Amino acid sequence: MKLASIQAAESKLLLNTYERNPYLFVSGKGVFLQDDNGTQFLDLLSGIGVSALGYGHPAIEQAIAHQSTRLLHTSNLFFHEGTANLALRLTEISGMDRVFLCNSGTEAWEAALKLARAYATKARESGKHIGTKFLAMGHSFHGRTMGSVATTHKDKYRLPFAPVMGDVEFVRFNDVADLRAKFSEDVCGICIEPVQGEGGIHPVSPQFFAAARELCDSTGALLLADEIQSGLGRTGKWFAYQHYGIQPDVTTLAKPIAGGIPMGAMLCTERAASAFTPGMHGTTFGGGPLACAVAIAVIDTMQRENMLAHIEEVGGFFKAKLNALKEQHDCIAEIRGMGLMLGVELTSAELAKQVAAQMMERHIIINRTSETVLRFLPPYILENKHVEMTIDALNEILKANTELAGATPAGEKAHG
Ligand SMILES: *Cc1c(COP(=O)(O)O)cnc(C)c1O
Repeated sequence: MKLASIQAAESKLLLNTYERNPYLFVSGKGVFLQDDNGTQFLDLLSGIGVSALGYGHPAIEQAIAHQSTRLLHTSNLFFHEGTANLALRLTEISGMDRVFLCNSGTEAWEAALKLARAYATKARESGKHIGTKFLAMGHSFHGRTMGSVATTHKDKYRLPFAPVMGDVEFVRFNDVADLRAKFSEDVCGICIEPVQGEGGIHPVSPQFFAAARELCDSTGALLLADEIQSGLGRTGKWFAYQHYGIQPDVTTLAKPIAGGIPMGAMLCTERAASAFTPGMHGTTFGGGPLACAVAIAVIDTMQRENMLAHIEEVGGFFKAKLNALKEQHDCIAEIRGMGLMLGVELTSAELAKQVAAQMMERHIIINRTSETVLRFLPPYILENKHVEMTIDALNEILKANTELAGATPAGEKAHG
């Protein structure tokens, strides 16, 4: 009843931007969310990779409670205790030199794009030609503001808002020849998600990532790694680029950084950072005392509890179980991803939609992205027993669906 009235009110009052699932969540504990009927849901999505320490984590609760009694906001005209403390942690785990704090993923990515343009402008002023073009990837996703959509591949996200930021060319992801052909001194930045998230959990190939690094080094262009979804431990290392031994010039963080409080960060090298001087960029809310205090608590908790090793372990177990499931089901085309950022490519979009909905009916939250891909972004505190629950449910659902779908030709893809 309550859900129905909220649905009715929202459909009248809110912009029509989301297709929400008909569930009303009221609280959470650990890896479980609870709805208004008191039903527990195993959450393998964590609010699209945000609630990385799960729900009701004492470290987060304490940080919020403590900071709320002291100070919520000062503006960036003054100092507070949180910013440098957080930046120290972020630079240590990333191998970067400097940090810009903001409020969301797209805002972090805008900062990265502006930095690359400013760096190129400064280079040209000192007589070295670096142009204004960005190379972005097929199936990329960088957010919803004008610069971010300009570097986002899907037409639906970009074309209705034309003209978006100009001078972007798309490269086929992981196609080294295409990258080399499109790269020149006109390029100021190459934009890569080391593991594409919305695009369907596609890791960059080592050859492609290395070629991008080498091309940027040859001209002074910046290599921009968007780790808004893959960063801060999600893949079993602090940053996905660390699996490749490649250091980008700029990287962006957001989703899990402050455990559910909105926050974004752009991290970069000293060389790249030199392009910004006071007044060139800023934000009212960014790097405020509350978000900083919580982000510090998140990172300290992850370090204290040795969470990267746990993510690798339970993620490895999860992936092995998914691969075993693939052996039993022809409708699974591929298993991809690392750590607790995993994707299951199914042979049909309709099937993927059905499976996600039926998992929800069994009180397990997963997500479908890129039409045919089941996406798993569970909280880092997931345990093997939760993986087993998930695999059992998936197995039963896939069995029942393939029996039903006997008549449907495999490999048929819905239009996206
Ligand atoms: C979610 C996401 C963004 C956008 O983040 P918002 O906080 O929604 O603006 C950008 N890049 C990647 C890789 C993402 O996953």
